Amino acid sequence: MKARTKFQHQVVAANGRLLPITEKQTEWAFRHTVKHYAFRTPSGQTTCLDCGHRWNETKAKHCTCPNCNAKLTLKDTLCRKVDEKSYFSVITTQDGFQVQRIFRINVYYRKGENAWTSVYEIARYWLDENGKTALTALQRTMGRYLDSFLYGSGLELRNDNYVYQHIADCYVCPNYTVLPKLRRNGLKGTFADIAPQKLMKALLSDSRVETILKNGRKQDLKHLIDNPRDLDFCWPSYKIVLRRKYRITDMGIWVDYLRMLGRCGKDLHNAHYVCPADLKAEHDKFQNKVRILQEQEKRKEQMKRARENEVRFRELKGKFFGLEFTDGTIVVRVLDSVEAYYNEGNALHHCVGQCEYYLKPNTLVFSARIEDKRVETVELSLETFKVLQSRGVCNQSTEYHDRIIKLVSKNVSLIRKRMVA
Ligand SMILES: [Zn+2]
Repeated sequence: MKARTKFQHQVVAANGRLLPITEKQTEWAFRHTVKHYAFRTPSGQTTCLDCGHRWNETKAKHCTCPNCNAKLTLKDTLCRKVDEKSYFSVITTQDGFQVQRIFRINVYYRKGENAWTSVYEIARYWLDENGKTALTALQRTMGRYLDSFLYGSGLELRNDNYVYQHIADCYVCPNYTVLPKLRRNGLKGTFADIAPQKLMKALLSDSRVETILKNGRKQDLKHLIDNPRDLDFCWPSYKIVLRRKYRITDMGIWVDYLRMLGRCGKDLHNAHYVCPADLKAEHDKFQNKVRILQEQEKRKEQMKRARENEVRFRELKGKFFGLEFTDGTIVVRVLDSVEAYYNEGNALHHCVGQCEYYLKPNTLVFSARIEDKRVETVELSLETFKVLQSRGVCNQSTEYHDRIIKLVSKNVSLIRKRMVA
């Protein structure tokens, strides 16, 4: 990507002036961002993979190398090598920009040798005083792993994407340097697991973030930076939290709780609701309330749908209502309400109700009964005037099956007449 704007040209110029990472920073990354091992054989002989020193160790999981003093994780194995990798950040400034430099450290451990490390710089996020951001980075390569980069491609201006953002959320080397504005806005101490670039951008461009940070609430801030929409939503309530010096035990649960309060029509500016003594209990209480509310809505929705169906059904089949014919024993009658379909289906254990036969535009459904006892349900095509199906209990045919079909076929003219009318 070519630099086009003035901002991009300045970034590219500053990008060329950054100095390589120091040995001290590499050493810190090796010590703090990758695992360190001691391999122990069944005989008890233990090897430090940092320095190659051998001794007999009796501890269970962790030990310290008597030679180099490294804190090691013990592994009972006959393996002779292991590789580790990690990402870490160096936060610094250059030519008036705030920079987050992202490095990848690879460590190759070989039994009996000194550990060997290599460090590559992968990406740099550049921020100006207003939080405007640019990225210079190595090119990504296509392949099985998302985080694979073309090491010869150079740290050039590139479009940001989730892979760079993902690796930017990593360990931060202590003793970082920031712009005076960031210092003024309250950035000091650890980043508390907040992705540095996101925190710095927010802190340069959003006064709410400054307020939260200056109140010493990094844990709350972590949630709000990971979920930016939550910040907009809960800010008015969160101001009450700050004023009341209320401590939120779990930010995720608190935001969910706030949403449920809103759902139940409660006042989100009322400290009584916003600062509950027992967050978890209140959360669960309102969760229950919302569930009841949702069930009520669902029932209402079902009733509304049933009413709509009834209207539609009457439009479709109203002209056939009251249609009835008999051969002296069997009486065949048009089903004349949605409820009648469900009753018919429930009585004969078939799905004429559930499958919404009452909404089928081109068929008509009858109930065939003897002395008002249901025998079969008949579906007739309004296009061919043939019986499509006639079914008794559990979709079985009865001894009256053929008689019923005959009776309906004989009276088709009555049905046709209603259609014309
Ligand atoms: Zn050692």
